[in-house]
Amino acid sequence: MHPADDLAAKTLAIHHQLNAYYGIQAIYGRTDPLHELISTILSHRTTHANEVTAYRTLRERFPTWEAVRDAPLPSLIDAIQTANYPEVKAPYIQNLLQQLIRETGAANIDFLANLTTEEAMKWLTDLPGIGLKTATLLLLFNFKKPVLPVDTHVHRVTQRLGLIGPKVSAEKAHGILLAYLPQDATVLFNFHKHFYWHGQRVCTWYYPKCNECILQKQCDFFQAGGKMVLSSTPVRVKAK
Ligand code: SF4
Repeated sequence: MHPADDLAAKTLAIHHQLNAYYGIQAIYGRTDPLHELISTILSHRTTHANEVTAYRTLRERFPTWEAVRDAPLPSLIDAIQTANYPEVKAPYIQNLLQQLIRETGAANIDFLANLTTEEAMKWLTDLPGIGLKTATLLLLFNFKKPVLPVDTHVHRVTQRLGLIGPKVSAEKAHGILLAYLPQDATVLFNFHKHFYWHGQRVCTWYYPKCNECILQKQCDFFQAGGKMVLSSTPVRVKAK
């Protein structure tokens, strides 16, 4: 069997194991898509509480998206100051709104539902400040498009398991893992959620709880006694 076929089989086997362990969920969208997109810009390197405060203050001071688009930059920066790097994020938000309203005539991104996955990905990632992770989260959660968000947890756990190589970045992992999985939004949603939860609860950053983990036998990191240098885990950690 070709090594890539081996990894695809291993990825699917672990996916089924985690389905049985965590249960399969229907996709749930979060908030209004534009709210989600702006919140995600605000959330970069910011706690959830501070992101929520920044979004609420933004909406209180500028009740319409047109008002946000036209606001003097210093006023907008001040409104979102609880988010880190407000001076970077404010122009991103105005840029997004300018382009959106110019192209569609409305402050609404529901039109993404009618684009192909590739078209929607391109539209989003062409915007300054919108990366692959933000675009995939939005398209999977809000529009049920078959993409796979690779956040820090998905990246770390799939790398420790050996599903992606030790030097593969989160950006590259998106395409590699996607090729191993069925192009089905519900499958990809559950894959993302299960690895996210596993990374938060069991396969944690510094001290993975390997003794509690159902994936020990398949895990390269565990089998190597925690002695692996991985791009997702810069500090070498000892498996407990
Ligand atoms: Fe993570 Fe340890 Fe489980 Fe491997 S065995 S996936 S390192 S918790």
